[in-house]
Amino acid sequence: MLKNYMEILVDQVFNEVIDKYDICVNESCSNDIKAIALNNLKPVYFLSSVNEGEKKAFLLDRQRKITVLAKITEAVDVVCGKCEDKQQKMRETV
Ligand SMILES: [Zn+2]
Repeated sequence: MLKNYMEILVDQVFNEVIDKYDICVNESCSNDIKAIALNNLKPVYFLSSVNEGEKKAFLLDRQRKITVLAKITEAVDVVCGKCEDKQQKMRETV
């Protein structure tokens, strides 16, 4: 079964930042955020000759994670910019 490692990385970075950013917990929002981010990133499929260490290195690459985070941040603005849940959250913090 082929895996898009970019999808795994987006999932991973998303989970790391979900607490730090004002991302709403709404599941349809988080799916849309990941979908938009993934549409703006190249899919990555490894050949069978690539070993686990290289796959791990891909997921840990700091520069790549920063790029992914930037795409996620853009997607959050698009998806949750006018999101009611988020506005609710913002009102509560005022
Ligand atoms: Zn939202």
